[in-house]
Amino acid sequence: MTRLIDLPTLAHLVHGIGVPRFMALLAERIEADFARWPAFDKSARTASHSARGVIELMPVADATHYSFKYVNGHPFNPAQGLPTVMAFGVLAEVATGYPLLLAELTLTTALRTAAASVVAARALARRDSRSMALIGNGAQSEFQALAFHALLGIAELRVFDVDRAATDKLVRNLAAAAPALRVRRAASTAEAVRGADIVTTATADKARATILTPGMVEPGMHLNAVGGDCPGKTELHADVLRGSRIFVEYEPQTRTEGEIQQLAADHPVTELWRVLTDQAPGRRHAGEVTVFDSVGFALEDFSALQVLHRLAHERGVGRDIALVPTDGDPKDLFGRMHPAAAAPRLRLRLRSVA
Ligand code: NAD
Repeated sequence: MTRLIDLPTLAHLVHGIGVPRFMALLAERIEADFARWPAFDKSARTASHSARGVIELMPVADATHYSFKYVNGHPFNPAQGLPTVMAFGVLAEVATGYPLLLAELTLTTALRTAAASVVAARALARRDSRSMALIGNGAQSEFQALAFHALLGIAELRVFDVDRAATDKLVRNLAAAAPALRVRRAASTAEAVRGADIVTTATADKARATILTPGMVEPGMHLNAVGGDCPGKTELHADVLRGSRIFVEYEPQTRTEGEIQQLAADHPVTELWRVLTDQAPGRRHAGEVTVFDSVGFALEDFSALQVLHRLAHERGVGRDIALVPTDGDPKDLFGRMHPAAAAPRLRLRLRSVA
């Protein structure tokens, strides 16, 4: 049977474990999987673009497990009462192709994106980082704030969104979820960013936006650029990138989807797994500006699905569904249709032919 974890089940599971602990589990698994980078069969995701958004399929596999995520990105969705990003995914057995787990991945994507941002920031941000600017206060923002607060020691957050209601919601949610985190509303991106150790951009606009311009960036900052993740959709001015050392998840995908789509195809970037395995340096000195050009890579969802699968079995969470045949004669697919249900339709058809 295939284990199903739907949205309410996942929410209940995360609530029981606690958001910081759950994100720590994700970060641990992401780090471990990135350290096994050569063991994975990797490809850039397949994207189907339309006027209002994109729908993507994200597969990856090692010798034992295969996973994929279905995910969309539709920046105009919130105006229609739908999230910008929605997702679900599957973890399957490579040896048989059997789907072990079918899981919601909308909430999980926000959790794993924040966990991956922290994995990158641990390697790239200054160790004494205590303040973060958070530009774009939509669906991803609480997760980014909580991950950096709980797992990286960020104590002060400066927040800005062009939509005041989004910031109201973020401030309200963080007051309840992380009372020790000092949250300050800024009147502009420039004000939020001034003096911050880390800047996270998580805005959504189907455009070449310039949320951060060179004048806003100070020596030693780490930029966690989460929102630019599609061809034609970026957040940083190209000169911000030219003045920084750039780190990416999977270079072939980020070249077309990330901030670096604005740069020459041979502009140097470093894949994060190389830093995590000590094959390339992370931050080299306190004054360096580092950018994590995050677009979201299938391996992060593989890691998340592995964590969900383990927890589902350890804690008896979710329910088993007959998504594919598991018993009976594997060659008698036809016989699986209930004879009582199939026969009347057959009789009807025979009568009409006669
Ligand atoms: P969302 O629509 O819920 O929130 C985006 C927010 O950005 C909105 O509140 C909007 O008002 C704000 N915004 C837009 N333009 C702005 C500007 N110029 N200045 C300040 N704020 C601005 O979207 P979300 O689910 O929070 O996702 C945010 C972005 O992150 C999206 O672009 C999404 O595609 C991307 N994302 C990336 C990853 C990844 O792995 N890198 C994962 C999930 C989502």
